Amino acid sequence: MNILDIIEKKKVAKELSSEEINYFIEAYTKNEITDYQAAALVMAICINGMTQDEILALTIAMAKSGDVLDLSDISNNIVDKHSTGGVGDKITLIVMPIIAALGIPVAKMSGRGLGITGGTADKLESIPGYNINISIDEFKENIKDIGISLISQTLNLAPADKKIYALRDTIACTNSTPLIASSIMSKKIAAGANAIVLDVTCGSGAFMPNKEQAKKLASLMSKIGVWANRKTVCVITNMDEPLGFAVGNTLEVAEAVNALKGKMPDDVKEVVVELAAQMMYLSGKYPKLSENRAKVMEVIESGKAFEKFKELVARQGGDVSFIEDPSKFEKAPIITPVIAEEDGVVEKLDAGMVGKAGLGLGMGRQNKDDEIDPRVGMIFNKKIGDDVKKGDVLAYVHANTPESANNCVEEIKKAYVIGYRRISKKNIIEII
Ligand code: URA
Repeated sequence: MNILDIIEKKKVAKELSSEEINYFIEAYTKNEITDYQAAALVMAICINGMTQDEILALTIAMAKSGDVLDLSDISNNIVDKHSTGGVGDKITLIVMPIIAALGIPVAKMSGRGLGITGGTADKLESIPGYNINISIDEFKENIKDIGISLISQTLNLAPADKKIYALRDTIACTNSTPLIASSIMSKKIAAGANAIVLDVTCGSGAFMPNKEQAKKLASLMSKIGVWANRKTVCVITNMDEPLGFAVGNTLEVAEAVNALKGKMPDDVKEVVVELAAQMMYLSGKYPKLSENRAKVMEVIESGKAFEKFKELVARQGGDVSFIEDPSKFEKAPIITPVIAEEDGVVEKLDAGMVGKAGLGLGMGRQNKDDEIDPRVGMIFNKKIGDDVKKGDVLAYVHANTPESANNCVEEIKKAYVIGYRRISKKNIIEII
């Protein structure tokens, strides 16, 4: 088989066979295909799309490109969650300890930031000492002993997805429905989940700009779930404005810690409660969705979810004193306010623009090997629906140079629309 023939075929929008897809994935994983050839094929897929058979073949090939974990000796019902990405999305850090504290084993492999969206792996790594690269044996032992492990994709799990994911980020191919669906589902299958709750974000800060496209992605991932024999629920959530008040790695860890202690912004709470309730339901242990929502709040209020998070951090080598007291996280050297220039009501806080502004601060990567600065980001004081007076602080920018701080302030001003309409907000849009 020849990669040039495969690229040529996809270039003219012909369907690839599963043999061709397997060949590409195997050879690219072994570095027998160059990045520029892979980029050409990925771009052709991005432009011409894929049939359902191609998407399933790609998902299975990527899942099998490394180890496929069998966690059946721990549980026959490991529940996992994944978000299609967003700005200020720290939900994994909150939901996974909640579920583990409810006695449901959770195992999760998270990605790094992609495009303007932040990655849970980067957030976890911002906790001093936290090791996201533990061995598969340690991963399994953690799940057995404490019911939770959160790692990155550095284990030999879906390595083909890891390479393609990083490549997509550098060639403007992040927002392709077949590539997102196969990327997410291949990781979930490889990591041994039996049931999966997918947070499919839509809006300016997400890969899917609107509800219609989010629904398409959701139904595609649900179909892959059926073919791969995984119970799957998709929750479509709003990503028109950043989730919560904090955006940036250590800033979001601190917000997640507060949430686990019961202090949650309303939008974060809405998403946390729904995703956790759905995960509980899929586990089979908590079959009444309506009761599950109340149980989520109980496990937070009892302090058990917070204790579980501390146990996780300690177990993976992290310094728990930062979780006990997040003010210990090193602060960015420059903290600058964004001041309101008029009275009114916040009609819009564009998550996409906030994500781009964050990239300029060094919060995420512009190139795949870029270093990120875990300290930088933003804290929003005013969100959609809030009243604003001229001179109020809309947000604080945490930056590492005066120039990046000033640029970010200007971009955040543009991300706000202050008007007169009080927009009603809804974070859970639909459950599929
Ligand atoms: N999350 C993933 O894991 N993959 C994507 O392609 C997008 C979001």
